[in-house]
Amino acid sequence: MRVGVMGGTFDPIHLGHLAAASEVAHHFDLTSVVFVPAGSPWQKADRQVSPAEDRYLMTVVATATDPRFTVSRADVDRSGPTYTVDTLRDLRAEWGADTELFFITGADALNDILSWRDTDEVQRLAHLVGVTRPGHVLADPGLAPGTVTLLQVPALAISSSDVRARVQAGAPISYLVPPGVESYIAKRGLYRDRA
Ligand code: NAP
Repeated sequence: MRVGVMGGTFDPIHLGHLAAASEVAHHFDLTSVVFVPAGSPWQKADRQVSPAEDRYLMTVVATATDPRFTVSRADVDRSGPTYTVDTLRDLRAEWGADTELFFITGADALNDILSWRDTDEVQRLAHLVGVTRPGHVLADPGLAPGTVTLLQVPALAISSSDVRARVQAGAPISYLVPPGVESYIAKRGLYRDRA
């Protein structure tokens, strides 16, 4: 089995994330992709992040129609700050040593990987895939050759921060997020009063 592990804050999940997961699944011939919303993104302690349960539920709604996609509560249910090494250990324990893991996230986030906890073990547990927007200049994260693959995904012109800003400004987000996520954001009143 070859499984993608899509890590992100997903505040909110948008069509760029879904397109990226699909693109990586195709590129690496993955059996499935599990989305893992971060529980407590410790590097965002100074910023307002929506409750983990809201981000988890939006991710479930967004991925429901694609049989290749599932969502894990691993990070949401683990107490304390979210470290990718814990995510990968939990998923490795769940799926066993025969499953090859591909950790997928934004290339910007991967740029900081050398500051992450147990970076060496993260690299042993999974191949790293950084997805990015076209035209974005990629910094060298300083990892050993072959450790990380970088892929450009046109739909990643969409960003969570832009979606949040649009909601706050009363601008439409149709066609940027799945319809169910748009309804969820409206129903819960997310991002309206975000500073
Ligand atoms: P971030 O800094 O909020 O995101 C940086 C950039 O990457 C943004 O442009 C973001 O766009 C994009 N991005 C994030 N996740 C993505 C995804 N799955 N697919 C495509 N683009 C994505 O990053 P973050 O969400 O906090 O962290 C990303 C992952 O790295 C999470 O799984 C997190 O737990 C992990 N992480 C681990 C450590 C650690 O172990 N010490 C430290 C930091 C991050 P959008 O805003 O549009 O998503």
